[in-house]
Amino acid sequence: MWVAGAERAGRGELIPVEDPATGEIFAHCHAASEQDVQDTVALAQAAFKSGVWVRESRHRRADVLDKSATLLEAELPELIALEVRQTGRAIREMKAQVPSLVRWLKYYAALLRVEERPLLPTVGKLHNFVDRVPLGVVVQITPFNHPLLIAVKKIAPALAAGNSVIVKPSELTPLTTLRLGAIFKTAGIPDGVFNVLPGYGSLTGKSLVSHPLVRKVDVTGGEAAGRAIGALVGGNLARYTAELGGKAPLVVFNSADIQVAVNGIAFGSFIASGQTCIASTRIIVDNKIFDVVLETLKAKTESIAKRMGAPTNPDSMMGPLVSAKQLRNVESLVDEAVDTGAAKIVTGGKRMTSISALDSTDFSRGYFYEPTILVQGALPIDDFRKSAIWRKEIFGPVIVVVGFDTEEEAVELANDSEFGLGAGIWTQEMAQAFRVSEQIDAGITWVNTHHRNDPSSPWGGSKTSSGLGVENGVEAYQAYTTAKSTIISYASTEESLVSADWFRESAGVVRYG
Ligand code: NAD
Repeated sequence: MWVAGAERAGRGELIPVEDPATGEIFAHCHAASEQDVQDTVALAQAAFKSGVWVRESRHRRADVLDKSATLLEAELPELIALEVRQTGRAIREMKAQVPSLVRWLKYYAALLRVEERPLLPTVGKLHNFVDRVPLGVVVQITPFNHPLLIAVKKIAPALAAGNSVIVKPSELTPLTTLRLGAIFKTAGIPDGVFNVLPGYGSLTGKSLVSHPLVRKVDVTGGEAAGRAIGALVGGNLARYTAELGGKAPLVVFNSADIQVAVNGIAFGSFIASGQTCIASTRIIVDNKIFDVVLETLKAKTESIAKRMGAPTNPDSMMGPLVSAKQLRNVESLVDEAVDTGAAKIVTGGKRMTSISALDSTDFSRGYFYEPTILVQGALPIDDFRKSAIWRKEIFGPVIVVVGFDTEEEAVELANDSEFGLGAGIWTQEMAQAFRVSEQIDAGITWVNTHHRNDPSSPWGGSKTSSGLGVENGVEAYQAYTTAKSTIISYASTEESLVSADWFRESAGVVRYG
């Protein structure tokens, strides 16, 4: 654990950390016990109450965040290597993703320097200003797929606002988040203000999110976890942000450039082996170009499969799934879709057990699954749209391609989901881009691109199953604060005696409200 500015052994069980490419347990990590949770929340609360961080000048807090960015940059090679080992994600991806984290620290540092305090219009000689003040102890629960990115997206606004933070990383990938402890300490975050408690969701996580001193919980994870945590947080009347699952539609219109769109589909679908919340898993293609899109996409997908190897190989295009459990989920969803006639396989569709043509990696040791394209099977469209392969989040490199005839039909198919996180549209017609994106019910819609993210750009779901609240931008910072309104009368004593004595003896106009 990282608690009060130092590494500490947790008193819970030892969590094995597995390399998903080989099945090797390469590390163990202490889980935080119930007592560790109690102790850490108390320490974090004491740090908050002491004012050691929140009463620092905002320029100093900004400087510390900037310094964290510089220190993180210096540790990138080690962080990237560890992220690859614990997630199994190809090093190409992590070399592109992990360096981007510094932008979140710098963005919230900059926000601290430019934030203004609004002065509100009020009646009478009153001066009404609003401050944003931190909440206290906040808990952040993160998933396995982008361990550092999601942690830093949450930590940066929470620390900027002056809160005390406790992060509980995924039990599958706790190692890199722990490394942040020393970085923040060296940068100047006072002890007790930043803490990491590894552990299982049902034990450490549950006990953290149930704690009555915790004033906000911010989780990224699956819908089941999001609902379970929300019920506990609601009981404590604490604030809640939940970034949950997705089933992103990606609509390709007739005017799209086919190769550009196919490249976009491959990126949207197969990055992180499909283990992203905005993975474009429902590809909705104009029937006029359906065959050529499918053929081009098949060629691209098979080329990716041929270039898979060890995640540490810079030439490898895609890594394994994170765990045996995740592999079983993907296998069972695809097998069920094929067995029930909901879908037919165009390419892929099974676990990889061969030897890599790229670098002789033995795929059978890890949890590799072929990048897979499915199309609608013998089931009529109405039944197909009830099938699990169309409705459930797969979290693997599996996509389903369906056709449409009209724009209206495309929008209807795109919105046919309980999820509403990310969506993509590919069209060269500007009016169509505006018209369709306006009708898509998703928190983030990309046009002629996919999976773009920036510290300034809100990221969150628009439908229940994708969660509530957003990450990024001013909104995320504000969600780590509460508004504090101060109203000061600058009326003179004489004016107050005349107009502010509600219970005065004589009649006349006096203030009310
Ligand atoms: P998960 O729900 O299994 O676990 C996420 C985290 O929640 C882990 O740290 C886990 O230990 C914890 N947890 C689980 N149950 C808990 C409970 N009852 N109380 C407290 N903590 C609990 O998710 P995962 O498999 O790690 O990640 C995949 C999921 O995350 C997918 O559904 C994916 O769509 C979603 N996700 C969403 C976003 C987004 O931005 N919306 C980003 C990445 C991943």
